[in-house]
Amino acid sequence: MKKNDIIELEITDITHEGSGVGRYNGMAVFVPLTAVGDKIKAHILKVNKHYAFAKCNEIITPSKYRAADRCGVFSHCGGCSLRHIQYAHEAELKQNRVTQTMRRIGKVQIDAQPIIYADSPDRYRNKALYPVGMDGEIGFYSRHSHRSVPCGDCLLHPEVFYRTGKIFTKFLKEYKISIYSEETHTGLVRHFYLRQGKKTQELMVGIVINGNCLPHSEKLIEKLQLELGENLKSVILNVNTQKTNVVLGDKNICLFGKEYIQDVLCGVKVRISPHSFYQVNHDMAELLYKKAAEYAKPCGKNILDLYCGAGTIGLSMAKESKSVIGVEIIEAAVKDAQINARENKIDNARFICGDAARAAEQLKQESILADVVILDPPRKGCEEALLKTVANDFAPERIVYVSCDVATLARDTQVLESLGYKLIEYTPVDLFPRTAHVETVALFTKGV
Ligand code: SAH
Repeated sequence: MKKNDIIELEITDITHEGSGVGRYNGMAVFVPLTAVGDKIKAHILKVNKHYAFAKCNEIITPSKYRAADRCGVFSHCGGCSLRHIQYAHEAELKQNRVTQTMRRIGKVQIDAQPIIYADSPDRYRNKALYPVGMDGEIGFYSRHSHRSVPCGDCLLHPEVFYRTGKIFTKFLKEYKISIYSEETHTGLVRHFYLRQGKKTQELMVGIVINGNCLPHSEKLIEKLQLELGENLKSVILNVNTQKTNVVLGDKNICLFGKEYIQDVLCGVKVRISPHSFYQVNHDMAELLYKKAAEYAKPCGKNILDLYCGAGTIGLSMAKESKSVIGVEIIEAAVKDAQINARENKIDNARFICGDAARAAEQLKQESILADVVILDPPRKGCEEALLKTVANDFAPERIVYVSCDVATLARDTQVLESLGYKLIEYTPVDLFPRTAHVETVALFTKGV
């Protein structure tokens, strides 16, 4: 097989990034935007020793799992990767992938529990960060690039995001506001940022700029108020003058309303600041937390919530539990967590700002007890030192591990099992329909 060959291929699997895979003379050929069961003509783009990349030139026989694409920009936008297949099949693929990864990397013998998936896979995101293209249009980066593709009324977002985006792009054009260029590091507007409280419908509008001031911002606010009415609670300028791929700078200037919005998650009133982590899929996050609580059995227990963000998991269990201690590295999120506790009249919770591994060690020296430890790390998973402190020093009855990358969960499962913990059960939860991501929550107990 060589570059530019056209081959016939049957797609037999999907990678964890959502690309279809077929086998040709024993070699794996990766073809994006294809579905299991597709028979295609593939145009070979690149050949390595054991695998090749191709694009689909023609679908000879479509897979029975294919779905009509209602999006319009899906084939080149980098946001979704599974919009071309039926959602029920997507859920099944995710379920299988979680089991297979846990078996292969984690050497686990048990299969995943049935995946908890969404009633509707669309319009679930409560946050959007749009790059602003040089033409003043907002969109998303196209696959594997930093070129912005206008996204129109993105089906992952509430419809109000589209309306708000249109006001913003019209404002940019009307007042000839300059757009930031990554190449020359000149121009003003870098990103457009929206957050919505699902239960409250409150909206935060953020503009990330390479400077300290947005000319004519009062006009923008007027127009936003006219369109969004009472729901507009916060307009923020985020200052990012660095030559960096990191979207948000450290400084926020509040142009209108408050510096935060509110939502309600699992009955807990939550404050969301521009920098705080907040689960992007409210309804599925509630189901995830419910499963986490089922695993944690928090009643009357001391809970240590590591990687706690704005404290939401621990606070959702606080009323039943004896105590909650949350640890989080982002200071603004810790402040939100403290305020969230106060606003919800929860007085048995406290929050510490710091690295989870170091804070855990320090808490141990203070002889803090933990019956249940919740771990909810970013994709890279937990440091081994942290897992050792948790297992050896705190030795909780239960560890509930919430993971956004099953590969690192599987790796950490091996570590926890070597430290005397047993994986009892794990459940995938589809927090990110139409994308290749899936969340998994796992229960470990102290081995007998
Ligand atoms: N449990 C929260 C947040 C989970 S996301 C929720 O459900 O909303 C993971 C969180 O870990 C983020 O808030 C991130 O800021 C935090 N984090 C990342 N690295 C960390 C570290 N080394 N120590 C503590 N927190 C960390």
